[in-house]
Amino acid sequence: MGTVVYRYKRHIPNLPCFIAHNRLAELQQRSPPSLISLAGGAPNSNTFPFQSASITVKNGQTVTFDEVAMKRALQYSASNGIPELLTWMKNLQKNLHNPPTASYSPESGQMEMCVTTGSQEGLCKVFEMLVNPGDNVLLDAPTYSGTLAALHPLGCNLVNVPSDQHGMIPAALKEVLSRWDPSEVHKPGSTAPKILYTIPNGGNPTGASMTAERKKEVYELARQYDMLIIEDDPYYFLQFEKPWAPTFLSMDVDGRIIRTDSFSKILSSGLRIGFVTGPKPLVDRVVLHIQASTMHTSTFTQLMVSQLLHSWGQEGFLQHIDKVIEFYRKQRDAMISSADKWLKDVAEWHTPSAGMFLWMKLKGIADTQQLIMEKALEKEVLLVPGGVFMINSSEPCPYVRAAFSLSTPEQIDEALKRLSALIKEAL
Ligand code: PMP
Repeated sequence: MGTVVYRYKRHIPNLPCFIAHNRLAELQQRSPPSLISLAGGAPNSNTFPFQSASITVKNGQTVTFDEVAMKRALQYSASNGIPELLTWMKNLQKNLHNPPTASYSPESGQMEMCVTTGSQEGLCKVFEMLVNPGDNVLLDAPTYSGTLAALHPLGCNLVNVPSDQHGMIPAALKEVLSRWDPSEVHKPGSTAPKILYTIPNGGNPTGASMTAERKKEVYELARQYDMLIIEDDPYYFLQFEKPWAPTFLSMDVDGRIIRTDSFSKILSSGLRIGFVTGPKPLVDRVVLHIQASTMHTSTFTQLMVSQLLHSWGQEGFLQHIDKVIEFYRKQRDAMISSADKWLKDVAEWHTPSAGMFLWMKLKGIADTQQLIMEKALEKEVLLVPGGVFMINSSEPCPYVRAAFSLSTPEQIDEALKRLSALIKEAL
């Protein structure tokens, strides 16, 4: 127990092309000015039409790109991310999660990180790296539809672990795992799951957040069955109550946690900046997958974010987060008070302590698909029918997801009033 074996989908050899790419990049950086390189495959940025940029930050600061910075921003960059952004994030990660040093690869003894084009890219690459057709993958559904979209084409079996308002239920996980013998998980032909995916805070769509106790129990079960846990935590920074619950990453003594973080909900979703954090051998392989597909996250957006973060420092960053939390807490409160006003007799819900979603079960409605996709539009209210978050989306589902991120409290109130009328008509 505790010894982790990384079982990749297939072995990605360290191909000559990868070695050459990395070695050349390194040589180019360390080379004396007298070296004449005919090696690079990058275009000449003198031919690009953009010259400089200055972006005004809401607090009056500016993020500027002079001609030299602009040339770099417009050029290819390292597949794992630009060094200054990575260093900044590694420090933040260390301060927030303080991952136990023993957790990281026996080879390197350290945590590794890479930048991804949103956490969605990180998730996709992690699944691509690990999941074979026919593998059993554990997750607590309902879950993020983007995860289902990433997993379905891989031809794996999605195995549901029941959850409630506090996320995945450890006793239910134990029950699911009892199908396999922990001493046989490494035997050839074993069908025991290698990975477990979960959204620990402000779940999408459920709004559920896992307690520290549950995380500990789930982690212990992962140790018994030598599973990796994919901790997909884009709502980590949107936890309304402090202190924030310890993360899986913070309890990882073996090197079995792969964590995905996102700047989408706190800095910008369109800039597409996310991170994968985990044991070095796993993150290095994610980087190979990036190198083979997008090559890297936009240099321009990485530099833009990096400049801002360096000027803020960690303290300034966390002060910004506090303001974002304050906004979402008020929005959540507005939605709950309108739900109390309009939906008490026709729906059930739990108040989310993080994120941007309220997950509601409509009483007496077996399936919300038609009601939401057709009738709700007539009443000019739009929600997401719960079925899209289920492993088997064709089964009837009485839930709907309501987001409190974009609408004003007045709009939220009107929307839930319309939803209430709609449900009453349908009953
Ligand atoms: N995971 C979850 C649970 C999400 O809700 C989302 C976005 N909706 C993502 C990952 C992807 O986020 P992004 O790629 O913007 O970081």
